[in-house]
Amino acid sequence: MTSADTQEKFSRQVILPGVGAEGQKSWNEANVLLAGDGIALQSAASALSSTGVSKITLLIQENFDPSFLVSAHPQLSVEALPLSEQLPSFSVAIVVSKDAHLRRRLNRLFRKNHQAAVFAWPSASGYALFTSRYLNGCPCLECFEVLNPKAFSKGSDSVERLLGSVAASETLELILNGSSPLENKVWITALETGISVKHEIIPTYKCPAKMIEDGAKVTP
Ligand SMILES: [Zn+2]
Repeated sequence: MTSADTQEKFSRQVILPGVGAEGQKSWNEANVLLAGDGIALQSAASALSSTGVSKITLLIQENFDPSFLVSAHPQLSVEALPLSEQLPSFSVAIVVSKDAHLRRRLNRLFRKNHQAAVFAWPSASGYALFTSRYLNGCPCLECFEVLNPKAFSKGSDSVERLLGSVAASETLELILNGSSPLENKVWITALETGISVKHEIIPTYKCPAKMIEDGAKVTP
């Protein structure tokens, strides 16, 4: 893409307050790792694409054809990779998968490599978001999950759409500022009541990711 093309692309975007040309450039140069499926995945990809992120690496599992995403967003460069222990380099990862095993596996990988990630999932009548740069390993997603196993539910299509775009928005903030006020917190929004709460996540010795690292046996 030439710089004239890039300029033209930016001029068509809504320029958000506080973003500016430098911010747009950071987004344009970012590579977002995306793991998930269905509506949440599409919603996250649309939000990233419309704000000017140009490169996405999709972590795909068996029987997943990413071509629909490529045709929906021709301006996006989409690379599809099978999940392995060797993740490519990326700016921030977004995990909107409904698969609890995949979420845990990615949590352990990001934790081990200190890679920034945003997780979003349906919770009660709304959704929850967890952001970490894994600077100290824990707190991690599993520190929260092991003490709050019921904070994960199944979401409607509209909840999936919403959490995909919220995860993308948090990712853009991380790329822009290198950090986020939501780091190491779980942010839960209940749609029935409109109540939104943030919980600080405290590292726990019960964390399965930490126990595995310490050589303990953990039932999956
Ligand atoms: Zn942990």
